[in-house]
Amino acid sequence: VLPKFDWERFLRTHHVDAAPSGARQVVVHCPFCGPDDPSHHMSINLDGRGWRCWRAPESHFGRAPTKLVQKMLGCTIEEALRITGADAPPPPPTSEALVANLARLRGQAAPAPTRPRRLVLPEKFHPLTQDDERSEPFWHYLTEVRGYRASEARWLAEAYDLHWAVTGPYAWRLIFPVRDRYGDLLTWTARAVGATAKLRYKQPPDDLARTPAPRTLLGLDWLWRAPDPRVLVLCEGPLDATRITVSGASMGVWATCLFGLNLSADQRDLILELAAARFPRVALLLDATADRDRLRIARQLTPLRLALPRLPPGSDDPGELTAAQAAQLCLEMLD
Ligand SMILES: [Zn+2]
Repeated sequence: VLPKFDWERFLRTHHVDAAPSGARQVVVHCPFCGPDDPSHHMSINLDGRGWRCWRAPESHFGRAPTKLVQKMLGCTIEEALRITGADAPPPPPTSEALVANLARLRGQAAPAPTRPRRLVLPEKFHPLTQDDERSEPFWHYLTEVRGYRASEARWLAEAYDLHWAVTGPYAWRLIFPVRDRYGDLLTWTARAVGATAKLRYKQPPDDLARTPAPRTLLGLDWLWRAPDPRVLVLCEGPLDATRITVSGASMGVWATCLFGLNLSADQRDLILELAAARFPRVALLLDATADRDRLRIARQLTPLRLALPRLPPGSDDPGELTAAQAAQLCLEMLD
């Protein structure tokens, strides 16, 4: 049983013109009729018994408030569900579930699912924020090799939930968990902290990840709840993004990365969604040598009018900017 929706409060807070019409009943303009309703033909029962339009009682009616709220506000069904306090309907069965059901009906074993439903970080990964003397080389990497101040490194460890490992396939790597906007783990990317590793970044194989990194963006959970978002900066790698965000977050400049120099269709959708909902500006900040990639990605992102900031003279990698240079660049992007 759903909690009763408070129609009176809703009508009041949304400044809906409502007239009383008998006990526990009000009438409002019918949003389904629109201009065809000359006055107030939509009748709403305040005790949750339903709503009905007297111009079209056969089609404009319902019991649950969601559909009417959605129409009145012109919002999405998800927003209306949130406002009316109803849970989202269960998702339609996936093709995997359908195949499994079919297999069961035929008396066969269901095939193994192709993607894990939930992903957790391996036990060999340790949070950088936790006191552990074995984490020393990773702090050293951030402060001495990458040039972060100690306070910036601590902020990054916390904000990006950085992890480290000294055993297993990700040994001596700084690990960036990659999460969706709700904070669920999709995959991770692990940066070698030593100079000798063949692979700079290492990610789990695609069949282990819920979403491979090149099909998502770093820091989506932050990007969706960042206070006062102003500029979304697209970079190539995680350490480019962290360099910008650590200096820019306080000004509303937040960076993410594409995990390479290609923009996937999924990444494009995520960026357009963030731009529409939150970030009035989007900038593309790649290495100075990546001119052709910059043009190609900017073209892929039309209709956005991307800002294409220039790195300061003498530097060709956003990840290697000093804190002062990064802050200066963020200020320029705000203009
Ligand atoms: Zn109507």
